[in-house]
Amino acid sequence: MRLDEIILTYLDYFNKEKLPYIKCNNCGYVFYYPRAICPKCLSDRLSVMESKGEGEIYSETKFNDGKGEITIVSLIKLDEGFTIYANVIANNPSEVDINKRVKVIFKEVVKNQKFPFFTI
Ligand SMILES: [Zn+2]
Repeated sequence: MRLDEIILTYLDYFNKEKLPYIKCNNCGYVFYYPRAICPKCLSDRLSVMESKGEGEIYSETKFNDGKGEITIVSLIKLDEGFTIYANVIANNPSEVDINKRVKVIFKEVVKNQKFPFFTI
């Protein structure tokens, strides 16, 4: 697949509330960020897979806008072995911490296009 085809496939998955990732058919490496070749072995034999959307927080940063609004950006390690940077949405931000289990949710960020977020 070309990179633009992979990106369109990802956007389609998001709107179906599915979390995609890429598996290299040559070396088995798994990764999230859309690429046309495997970053490990440079093979172009890649498949878009569907994640269960569950994993744990590897690192997290909380941004406070000074008015009480807290945005949490985390590096999340999914159970399939790939990592993703995403926002974590929680009613109680103090519950969001390293190693906490999270699962994917989808929000319509722009008209007719959903994107993945995570929640505890
Ligand atoms: Zn590979």
